[in-house]
Amino acid sequence: MTVAAKGKGGGAKEPRFAERVIAWQRTHGRHDLPWQNTRDAYRIWVSEIMLQQTQVSAVIGYYQRFMEGFPNVAILARADADEVMRHWAGLGYYSRARNLHRAAQLVMSEHGGVFPQTQEEIEALPGIGRSTAAAIRAFAYGARAAILDGNVKRVFARHGGVSGYPGEQKVERVMWEMAQERLPTGELEPYIQGLMDLGATLCVRSRPRCKDCPVAVDCVALSEGRTAELPTRKPKKELPQRETTMLVLMRAGSVLLEKRPPSGIWGGLWSLPQADDDAAARKLAKTLGADWDDGEYLRVIEHGFTHYHLSIKPVLLSARVRHGTEEPGHLWLPLAEAHGAALPSPVKKLLTGLAAGTPLFD
Ligand code: SF4
Repeated sequence: MTVAAKGKGGGAKEPRFAERVIAWQRTHGRHDLPWQNTRDAYRIWVSEIMLQQTQVSAVIGYYQRFMEGFPNVAILARADADEVMRHWAGLGYYSRARNLHRAAQLVMSEHGGVFPQTQEEIEALPGIGRSTAAAIRAFAYGARAAILDGNVKRVFARHGGVSGYPGEQKVERVMWEMAQERLPTGELEPYIQGLMDLGATLCVRSRPRCKDCPVAVDCVALSEGRTAELPTRKPKKELPQRETTMLVLMRAGSVLLEKRPPSGIWGGLWSLPQADDDAAARKLAKTLGADWDDGEYLRVIEHGFTHYHLSIKPVLLSARVRHGTEEPGHLWLPLAEAHGAALPSPVKKLLTGLAAGTPLFD
């Protein structure tokens, strides 16, 4: 593994890399995203959390609805956890929403409702790492702080010719050094935004648009014909396959939903009652007042998580009674309204398909 950076990116004395990124950002970068042109740390913070692992185009609608629902940190801190999850449903990586909510409460209780300013204080909030804290400081306070998110790692790996998987500590350390060395002394916001824009629009994962790139002239990956191999991919590991049976329990046009535990997969969202296998599902159906033998298997749904693949076997059942109506953690919801609930995306897809009469049987 080679982790030495070869690129002449310019150090503190000669910030050529930064100058080119800044000039390019001013003419070709993004300037009108809903979280830009503000110094409001709250708005910037929410956007940075949503943008972790999610593309700008997918975030915009969620961001706007979230801001309408929770226009400031005090309102978010006071909000019901269910309401926060409902605004996040479909965006994925739900621990981000739980952390955001918890962090808002800490901003109120520990910082008097004012978003903190130092790197240490910001990083101490749940769900905020070094790069996110630096981006918030740069955009909200104009601080000189290096960022290193996934897109920026790709730019640095290619431009500097850094081999080795960037998730590895040794490689990441080299990249943080590069990030630090390349920081300009001023114009931090266009530089940080420019790096993000470059990674998202030109230096994309497959087929980067090098001919339009402002740092192409000394890009190591381009000159050595290695843009397809850098950054080095994560060493492949076969993901385990798991199965679950979900009960789509219907009664008079309503479906029974069950609240997921607050942590873990789909934590805090509403989902369908589920069991590890058919034998357990049969027992569960009985407990919930349905006859398993009258059930119909619907089409299997395949869902990928970071650490495993899940095959979901949905079974459509009729309940004789509305079991669990009075129990916390259970909810009978008219099927036609299911799309508005805080549901994991495969469950939402299944229920909206059922409501629309989409053929779901094999
Ligand atoms: S020249 Fe191509 S590979 Fe190099 S940084 Fe620019 S877009 Fe990325």
